Amino acid sequence: MQGKAVSEGIAIGVLTIYRKYKLNTERAKFQGSVEEISRFAVARNKARNELENLRIKASGEKNETNVALLSSYLVMLDDPAFVDAVERRIRERHIPAEDAIISARDRIYSLFDSMDDEYMQARAEDIQDISDRVLSNLTDASGVYEEFGNESILLADDLTPSDTMQLDKDKILAFVTRRGSGLSHTAIIARSMNIPAIVALDFPKDCEGKLAIVDAYSGELIIDPSPEVLEEYRRKKSETQRRFEELDELKSLPSVTMDGKHIGLYANVGSVDDVKKAMELGAEGIGLFRTELFYLDRNDYPTEDEQYEAYVEAVKALDGKELVIRTIDIGADKQEAYMQMKHEDNPAMGMRAVRYCLGHKDVFRTQLRAIYRASVHGEISILIPMIISIEEIWQIRSIINEVKVDLDREGVEYKECRFGVMIETPAAAMISDLLAKEVDFFSIGTNDLTQYTLAVDRQNTELDFICDYHHQAILRFLQMIINNGHEGGCRVCVCGELAADTSFTGELLRMGIDELSVAPGSLLRVKQAIRGTAI
Ligand code: PEP
Ligand code: MG
Repeated sequence: MQGKAVSEGIAIGVLTIYRKYKLNTERAKFQGSVEEISRFAVARNKARNELENLRIKASGEKNETNVALLSSYLVMLDDPAFVDAVERRIRERHIPAEDAIISARDRIYSLFDSMDDEYMQARAEDIQDISDRVLSNLTDASGVYEEFGNESILLADDLTPSDTMQLDKDKILAFVTRRGSGLSHTAIIARSMNIPAIVALDFPKDCEGKLAIVDAYSGELIIDPSPEVLEEYRRKKSETQRRFEELDELKSLPSVTMDGKHIGLYANVGSVDDVKKAMELGAEGIGLFRTELFYLDRNDYPTEDEQYEAYVEAVKALDGKELVIRTIDIGADKQEAYMQMKHEDNPAMGMRAVRYCLGHKDVFRTQLRAIYRASVHGEISILIPMIISIEEIWQIRSIINEVKVDLDREGVEYKECRFGVMIETPAAAMISDLLAKEVDFFSIGTNDLTQYTLAVDRQNTELDFICDYHHQAILRFLQMIINNGHEGGCRVCVCGELAADTSFTGELLRMGIDELSVAPGSLLRVKQAIRGTAI
């Protein structure tokens, strides 16, 4: 069966259907509105304590993605839209709290689920998760989760992040879900846990207990494989394992080509946790810190101090290596209700990234202040996304100057930060000769450069077949950007997904690229390709 692979790997195990909570199935009796509302409040309190404890655990593990997520769950738990919906049902329909929660949950779930926006659809999972947690406390569910046998491949309609966080990771070899997308939290967590995962796969109901293979490279689930296929996959799995072990030896070796040219090999990260992982894997620094993740899954903008602390922790973990902080790239698929963004017909071409920052100068200033304050603790560079003109750079420079004047006035220390732009619009590529005179470095965002050059929405899976990162137009742009960057004295990096495409490494190096920045999991594979290339 074919689905969409969202976290690479191969697993062979027993299919196990995920049953969320052992709910007490005995039907509850309505005891009166006041009693039911109070039972609901008590169950919510217990759920709150559980979530608080999980958040403390995640915080101890420095897992910022999970901390942010659990914080947003805590807010959702008391969200009037949820609480009122349940209490109103109890009062108006005279039904027990259990039935009221299920009814409110299903209503809110279908509202989110019917939205066009993939990100909002993913929020449907969250409301389901919170409701089920309250329900389990209401019914005194014993031991929240079902037990799993060893070596399970978990099947679920969908998994929520807190499901995932609580599972016994030693027993779960892979996830397969009917719903979900590469953007869903399940996918993000699976990738961060290095667990193979496939989404959008409609597995049959009666397959539980069967042996199966998950090929999370091709997105295939093979149920009841023949002995030959099983043997073939056992071989593939040990081959993959052997390749990983071989790669491990590359960690401390330099990233140089066969003819001796050093290529900077950096990591793309979204949290302080990832920074540490990247360091363990021998990254030379962070080439792309996607800071907008701090702004998601929450109810308000992160404060200057919150951001400052995160940047300081990240830059200290780098021990003198460079941290390229990309200023927020919110808008399009990355937005939250609190940002109060207007509806746009074409959000990918709308109020996004630097446009949002220049339109919301307070938000931008807060981030820049946090960056400059953190700058004294290491080597920080600033990278601006979605640039289309020189004027934007002037405006940003002027805001940076204001920030520095304020810091001077307050007697706060800071260092100069190197200043770079993402080249990810055709406009920026075409004027890269002019941009090179204004900035210290270029980082080529091939994901967006491809989307905008080919006029292909990068989120649209149906257009995958023409979303060609190797299109002649992209190759010409790459060569032009590299040449213009070098003529203007800029270092040029590729930080889009193309940087991790090892079939293309030789080509990129021959074009003259100076640096590549890739997800931590791809670092060693790319280093191997660099070391195997003669320019
Ligand atoms: C890109 O567009 O290639 C890029 C690296 O940025 P993002 O994927 O975050 O848009
Ligand atoms: Mg981009």
